[in-house]
Amino acid sequence: MNLSDHTPRQKASVTDSTQITDMQMIAHHVWQLSNCFPANLFNVYLIEDVLIDAATRWDASSLLKQLANIPLSQVALTHCHPDHQGAVKQICTTRGIPLACPEADIASMEGHAPMVPRTAAIKIMQLGFAGPAYSVQRSLHDGDEIAGFRVIHMPGHTPGHVMYFRESDRVAIVGDVLRNNHPLTGKIGLYEPPAVFTLDPEENRCSIRKLAQLHPALVCFGHGPVLHDMEQLDRFVDRLPS
Ligand SMILES: [Zn+2]
Repeated sequence: MNLSDHTPRQKASVTDSTQITDMQMIAHHVWQLSNCFPANLFNVYLIEDVLIDAATRWDASSLLKQLANIPLSQVALTHCHPDHQGAVKQICTTRGIPLACPEADIASMEGHAPMVPRTAAIKIMQLGFAGPAYSVQRSLHDGDEIAGFRVIHMPGHTPGHVMYFRESDRVAIVGDVLRNNHPLTGKIGLYEPPAVFTLDPEENRCSIRKLAQLHPALVCFGHGPVLHDMEQLDRFVDRLPS
């Protein structure tokens, strides 16, 4: 598929047979849900019939409403943090669908291990945003395939963190490997994830470099708007401390 076939941020009013009201089409068979204000605070994507991430527990009703008439086969996480797993249980139980989670984050998702890193910031975020523990039906590994996207292990932010990459049009859904807004001011721009939320910032930097080496054409973040300007990504990576 050629990305130029689609106007970026086009309002997706109709798919093949389904009415979609609030979602934005960002690439072929990829939509971004509209679940929070301000926009792009906690991003959730739909690729074909798979939901990627589930924002916070406060987003459950909005997400379920937007997905009401949409076929869903599973929820797949980029990683287990409160702002990505928050609505998992409500969505999976309401829709009767399984949860897929990166292998090394499963213990956290199921409540057998704490979310990491064990910083005060994560603990506070858990209190404010996390959803209940929920059992994982599918363990995700590097090289797996979901809805035409390849699962790529990108550790550092959490041990299991993965991204989803579609070779045909080089669309990358990267979770929190990198973000496109400032965590405090919301100013748009590329930033590493905050160290207080990142288990191993150095390893995450390796994952950011790995992302750039894939030469994506469109990058979809857990936080911040999608990025089309890949020169910006290359400049950011060039400036990363070695
Ligand atoms: Zn996040």
